[in-house]
Amino acid sequence: MDSISIFEIFKIGVGPSSSHTLGPWNAARMFVHDLDIAQTIRVEVHLYGSLSRTGKGHATDKAVLLGLMDLDPVTIDTSKIDEIIGKIQDGKALQLPGKAIDFDFNKDLIFENAMHPLHPNTLIFRAFGENGMIDEETYASTGGGFIHALAKDGDLKKPRILPHPIVEGIDLLKYTRSNQCSISDVVLKNELSIADEAQIDEQIQKLYDTMLDCIYIGSHTEGILPGGLNVSRRASAISKKLLHGVSYSGKEEWLAAIRSSARDFTTVNKWVSCFALAVNEQNASMGRVVTSPTNGAAGVIPAVLMYYLLFCEAGPTDAIRRFLFTAGEIACIFVKNATISAAVGGCQAEIGVSSAMAAGALTELLGGSPEQCLMAAEIAMEHHLGLTCDPIKGLVQVPCIERNTMGAMKAITAANLALESDASRAIVNLDTVVKTMWEVAQDMNHKYKETSEGGLAILLPVVNPYC
Ligand code: SF4
Repeated sequence: MDSISIFEIFKIGVGPSSSHTLGPWNAARMFVHDLDIAQTIRVEVHLYGSLSRTGKGHATDKAVLLGLMDLDPVTIDTSKIDEIIGKIQDGKALQLPGKAIDFDFNKDLIFENAMHPLHPNTLIFRAFGENGMIDEETYASTGGGFIHALAKDGDLKKPRILPHPIVEGIDLLKYTRSNQCSISDVVLKNELSIADEAQIDEQIQKLYDTMLDCIYIGSHTEGILPGGLNVSRRASAISKKLLHGVSYSGKEEWLAAIRSSARDFTTVNKWVSCFALAVNEQNASMGRVVTSPTNGAAGVIPAVLMYYLLFCEAGPTDAIRRFLFTAGEIACIFVKNATISAAVGGCQAEIGVSSAMAAGALTELLGGSPEQCLMAAEIAMEHHLGLTCDPIKGLVQVPCIERNTMGAMKAITAANLALESDASRAIVNLDTVVKTMWEVAQDMNHKYKETSEGGLAILLPVVNPYC
């Protein structure tokens, strides 16, 4: 657990959920990679707990089928997903790698009523041959797209050893102090033990390009989001209004137009909100996003990064890499000591963590010390403690999309507070708030852990009395 690469935190994938879409998708791919396909004539997928209760709204059903077809979430043409799923439903056949088998959506994809004792997000794949079951694998989707193959513990690879193993914030500060360096410098040393600098920069560029594409497409797409809740996309209208008719062609000219627009507080606030909305509107429509640390919370990191790139004084030339390194390491601390799964810890584990990541990373780029970075992360999480996950209709739309704007703005506020503070006088440190978040996660009623059985998810009036 002390050897997570930041590229395992930031993953390019497809929305709307990292734990309910990307994780199950990758679990299905793992299953077919080890399967004796020649012998297979039928496959069953069993979804338990939160995967069953919110799986339809989170597209878990579609994700496992795309995974069984061995399609790659990084490269799939997302505009073709509904067509592929429609063909499986209509044709009652599923194309495994190299072989088509019969598949009945209503019988072979099973939403189990029960919770599975192993994890709130458990899924089981079974394959059958002429003479009965030939393979069964159990996976837990533990948040952020991480998959734990429960049936394969004996086969686990030897753990990777990093030069600077970090479990808690205090470990990170030990290295920054002894090396007189920033948090991102420590992370770079660890990442260089896994890949060379050119490979690292290539991965960073891909992540940034995907985030920017997502913001740009989301800021130029109108209409109603899928799922039946009738949620309107808003990012596009905000972008258009803020640019007052300025014309541009393509991403770079759009960014230049934003840079030249007004910089008063309200305008900047609206741009940051626009970026976060754009990403999560794309996420809600199965668009391509970067898991950061989850898909439901994927808008916070790009929104705060764009806030820095467009509205702050230019800082280091490797700002994007430093931002993602620092943000990623803060996420690792939450993964190791608490959770980034809403099914385990509610929305504090998603939006709370993404806000803490963004706060710490922004603080480093704005010249804060490592202590101030961790203080900013602590402040951001402190004010998300107890945040519940209660998505209406099991869709990652309400409250999720707006919640990313709140996470981004809290991150900016937390960074500014930390930059104006003496971190040595902080009453609560990051490690304490991580422990507290974990305690709160365990005390939280299961209704508020991505089940859509409580809160906003059940109190929605059928007709809006305000209209
Ligand atoms: S409420 Fe929060 S944790 Fe739950 S699905 Fe929405 S963004 Fe994710």
